Order: sequence, then structure tokens, then C-alpha cells
Amino acid sequence: MIPYGRQSISDEDIQAVVDTLKSDFLTQGPAVQAFEQALASYCNVPYAVAVNSATSALHIACLALDVKAGDRVWTSPISFVASANCALYCGAQVDFVDVEPDTGLMSVKALAAKLQQAATNNTLPKVLIPVHLAGHSCAMQQIATLCQPYGIRIIEDASHSVGGSYLQQKDGQQQKIGSCQFSDITVFSFHPVKIITTAEGGVALTKDLTLAARMQLLRSHGITRNPDDMTEVSHGPWYYQQVELGLNYRMTDLQAALGLSQLKKLDAFVAKRLEAVARYRSLLQNLPLDLPEECPAGQSAWHLYIIKLHDENRRLAVFEALRSAGIGVNVHYIPIHTQPYYQQLGFQWGDFPQAEAFYSRIISLPLYADLTAEQQQQVALALNLAIKDACKE
Ligand SMILES: *Cc1c(COP(=O)(O)O)cnc(C)c1O
Repeated sequence: MIPYGRQSISDEDIQAVVDTLKSDFLTQGPAVQAFEQALASYCNVPYAVAVNSATSALHIACLALDVKAGDRVWTSPISFVASANCALYCGAQVDFVDVEPDTGLMSVKALAAKLQQAATNNTLPKVLIPVHLAGHSCAMQQIATLCQPYGIRIIEDASHSVGGSYLQQKDGQQQKIGSCQFSDITVFSFHPVKIITTAEGGVALTKDLTLAARMQLLRSHGITRNPDDMTEVSHGPWYYQQVELGLNYRMTDLQAALGLSQLKKLDAFVAKRLEAVARYRSLLQNLPLDLPEECPAGQSAWHLYIIKLHDENRRLAVFEALRSAGIGVNVHYIPIHTQPYYQQLGFQWGDFPQAEAFYSRIISLPLYADLTAEQQQQVALALNLAIKDACKE
């Protein structure tokens, strides 16, 4: 089976983990800080807080922004459930902003309309979480401009887009996603299907020292050893204080060592993904489907290659035929608001029509750094056959 995504692990990656295994620290050692510094420097952002998953990063990002019961958090319905769950962990209410029909990214128009209505009804969100679906940047500059007058804080769920960039309309310069140009906090995931991996892992990036310090506390039980943060004089060298209710979301040094090694290859991985995207573009011409486009808001990291069939009624047959042909296609994503858990919270099919229409037509084709031209030809051949057969039915 050719999977839809997979990691690329080299001998250097393996050696980096083995070296750490033989070192003094498996966790809470120097590798985590080294990885954080390398990431921060890559993204041109002052602070990086590495954790054990992007889900954890989203959770501590919400906590650091004081998301709590009575607050509202808005995100995109076309995302992994973690983008919304983080708000529920904090006791807040979740709502969604519908997406652009072509890209599945949060719609600026829908956001503007929803904000206007919420301002009238006094139901504005505290935090907005745009999701850079497939690695394509949302229209962050416009989103930030819309949120600014209301003081809405922004967390970018950039789980798909480490290595990508956004274009600033002002000067046409590219800034790395993660620079937090248009947000308070940006989150990356290092799950094996993502662009670089630490097996499990994630990071929260920020320009704000206070937010960074708060997230550092929250990832490790809310415990501080810094005398400046303590409420009474230290009892001695052993002394620490728990100053808030934190969690154990720490990344291990084994993960960080792998991450550091992977980060060196990030630009090469993205370049390979871009080559594969160009190959698909020439292999998949003239089929009854829409190919994904590079977004005008930036340079995608191309985590996913999401095609949209013209005829939604053929999606199931085409998907099944591809799986039978050994192509590990997938669907990203089932709209979050239609999940049973979210339906219990009051959401229904029909609430976000563009997201539902997008969902009904999409299939994610295999895309990863080590995908070969031959494998892509196999995918194209299988897709051609699958569509032909589906059209006969
Ligand atoms: C993968 C993913 C997450 C969760 O990442 P983990 O590291 O697996 O917790 C969150 N949001 C999006 C959009 C994702 O794709």
C-alpha cells in the first residue's frame, strides 16, 4: 500500500536518537532546548515551547491566552478535531467559521460576516484558530486585520505547514509560517505524517515573552524553579513552587534529538513535496476533478494533496477502487461539527454548507518526501481507472 503520508528517516536521524539514548538525559536534558532554539531561529521568532503533541500545544496555547468557561473560540470545521477540542478542554464554547469552497481554508468573507453578527449579539470569541489546511496559509493578514478591532487573539494551527511561508501584501516579502507575524501563537505538529517528525510531538511559537513563560510552566505541572516567580523566599536549593495547574506535556530528549536532525532536512523535504506536486499536475490533467492550487497567500509546505471530484456521487466508488489498487488514500477532513460529540453540543449537518460541500468531493492522494515518480504514476493510473469505472456505474 502506498500511504497518503509517511515519515522520511535517515541514518543520521537514527544516529541522533541512539546518541541521545546513550547520553545522561532521556528527558529534561539539553536536546529539547537545542531543538527549540533551532526551530525559533528557522521561523525567525523569539520563543519556541516544545511539547509532546500539537494537541498539547493547542491546549497550553489556549490556557496561556486565558481561555476559560464562558469564553468562545472559533476555528475551521475542515480540520482535525484537535483544533476545536483544545477550547473544550478549557471549558470554553466552540464555534466554526465556514470555509472557501475551492481551498477549504477559513473564509475571510464568512469570518467578517460572523464577527459583525457576534459584535451585535455580544457573542464575540476570545480566540480564533485558523488552520493552514494541507500546508496552504490562510489569508492571515486579512484575518488579523478583521480580529484586531475586537481584541480577538489568534492561534495559528499550522500543524500542516512547518516549512511554508506567507506573503506580506505590503512588500511582497515571504515570512516563514511560525514567525507569528499575524498571530499570538503558532502551533506545529511533528506526527509522522506531517512535514518533519519527532514520532509524537509539537511546538508552540510566540513573540511574547509572557506567553512563552506561561506555556513553559503549563507544560510541566505549573511548577517553577525561578525565584522571581515564587510567592515566598526559597527554602533552599531543592525548592520549587507550583504556581498554576499545569500538565505533563513535556517532549523527551529522544524526540527532540530526532526533531533537530529532521529540521536540517526540512527545506529539502518541502522541495521534494513541491516536485511531487508538479508531477501530479502533469499526470492528472483532463480528469473530471479539481487539482489543488498553490495559494496566493504564500508558499505551501504541501502536507496534503487534496483533489476534488466534480461529481460527489462518485467519491465513494473512486475511493474504494483506489484503496483496492493499493493506494492508501484518505479524506481530510470530516467536518468537525458533524462528529457525534459535536452534534451532542448542538451542531447539525447543514450548519456549515461550504465545509460540507468541500468534504463531499475530496480525496487526499499520497504525498510525502520519499514518494517516487513511479509511485505517482501508479497513483495516476489507478485514479484514471477508478474514475472510468465509477462513470460506468
Ligand atoms: C495533526 C494535527 C493536529 C494534532 O497534532 P498531534 O501532534 O497529532 O497532536 C492538530 N491539528 C491539525 C490540523 C492536525 O493536522
